[in-house]
Amino acid sequence: MTDTSALPIVQHYIDGATVESASGRTAPVFDPALGEQTKTVALADAAEIDSAVAAAKAAFPAWRDTSITKRQQVLFRFRELLNERKGELAAILTSEHGKVLSDALGEITRGLEVVELATGFPHLIKGEYSEQVSTGVDVYSTKQPLGVVGIISPFNFPAMVPMWFFPIAIAVGNTVVLKPSEKDPSAANWLAALFSEAGLPDGVLNVLHGDKEAVDGLLTHPDVKSISFVGSTPIARYIYETASKNGKRVQALGGAKNHMLVLPDADLDLVADSAINAGFGSAGERCMAISVVVAVEPVADELIEKIKQRMSSLTVGDGRRSCDMGPLITEVHRDKVASYIDVAIADGADVVVDGRGIEVDGASDGFWLGPTLIDKVPLTSRVYTEEIFGPVLSVVRVASYEDGVALINDGAFGNGTAIFTNDGGAARRFQNEIEVGMIGINVPIPVPVAYYSFGGFKDSIFGDSKAYGLQGFHFFTREKAITARWLDPSHGGINLGFPQN
Ligand code: NAD
Repeated sequence: MTDTSALPIVQHYIDGATVESASGRTAPVFDPALGEQTKTVALADAAEIDSAVAAAKAAFPAWRDTSITKRQQVLFRFRELLNERKGELAAILTSEHGKVLSDALGEITRGLEVVELATGFPHLIKGEYSEQVSTGVDVYSTKQPLGVVGIISPFNFPAMVPMWFFPIAIAVGNTVVLKPSEKDPSAANWLAALFSEAGLPDGVLNVLHGDKEAVDGLLTHPDVKSISFVGSTPIARYIYETASKNGKRVQALGGAKNHMLVLPDADLDLVADSAINAGFGSAGERCMAISVVVAVEPVADELIEKIKQRMSSLTVGDGRRSCDMGPLITEVHRDKVASYIDVAIADGADVVVDGRGIEVDGASDGFWLGPTLIDKVPLTSRVYTEEIFGPVLSVVRVASYEDGVALINDGAFGNGTAIFTNDGGAARRFQNEIEVGMIGINVPIPVPVAYYSFGGFKDSIFGDSKAYGLQGFHFFTREKAITARWLDPSHGGINLGFPQN
């Protein structure tokens, strides 16, 4: 048994420096491939929440007024440093999240795309100008930062999800308090320290570690102007309601249950490869993972055979050892995901491949669960209705395209979906008829590139603003419309009506 008091403590990063927590509350951080606690993370109390927000508030006026060129230079430098040193960050991600190193690098690359987009911010927040709207009067608009913005992120993308938001928020002149997941907290500190090294002034990006207490502190703090949240649906709904009630602008992205619709004319080898990649990549702990294959008959038996064959060659193990799939985030989560296999059996589904008891290339105490495939999942089963968030792929059989679309549209979530077909007309119909925010056509994980926005429909998002892309710039700025007249010697006199000339 490890002496946890000797383990490193992940502390807050406030005002450009590591700040030792005095709250007396901590949470364990595990290496999921070892199944061992390797660190402890501080959990903020009210005084620490106040101090992070105060640092961001104090840094705001100077950062807002820093010239566009200087802000751009800091962003470019951050981009360069991140690109040079991403291997260090990937190692941190693998050691706390468990995802394999190549996938950790992929996550960083997707975050880097947003940094690159953010460097182009001057073009994206330009205002408008109309001369002579009335005699001698001009009107123009300007987009300005909000002030202190709060970002609350989930465990599954500890680098990418914060980078969906903070590069854009900071580029346009806001200052940030980031509350990362307490399950894998170190990536946020590493990113904030790197940004300081790139020249970001102290207090512009602060990392506050914590749990519900820290989150509630940000949701109710009068100096926090907006909240960007990504996590599970019940918490996203709570965040949206609480932050809105407290007068904040909110974007809250929730959970998902993503379907892949396979039409009979699809290339089944491509489909099987895609189902494996999208179902089991990052051990299924992706909000854009495919968790349900909807097979339009008669393809189900042949497709299942192809998926099963490929599953037998997947290696599961420590992400540092070039395996295909790593462990789950915690023992509790692994047990919860595994419990759905029992639910499937009890509900009469057919467990084609059972990932429990899989042989792994790693420590025996790791939080392992192998890839699992379940056929004939009843639509009433919790295996079908709930987000499992693990390497469990379900298959549902339908008789027609229409039945598949109706089934997907009946779901509570609307994050991502994909259609596999060689029929362009069917794909076009699908993109029109499906009630989902992100759609792949022969692409299993259609995460939009940085210059489009990321977000779903229904229970997958609360608030009307998606992440990054143009919507990100819109979210982190507010527009002023200015009506100006520079007086010349003529003066129109008193007029209590609206001007008409
Ligand atoms: P989570 O909802 O448990 O936690 C997310 C954040 O909320 C964390 O920072 C956590 O500390 C905080 N939190 C947890 N419980 C809270 C509470 N009761 N009150 C206030 N704050 C609380 O989510 P998770 O398990 O870290 O992440 C997985 C979930 O995130 C999945 O549902 C996944 O689909 C979702 N997700 C969605 C997207 C998307 O873009 N839609 C992207 C990634 C992950």
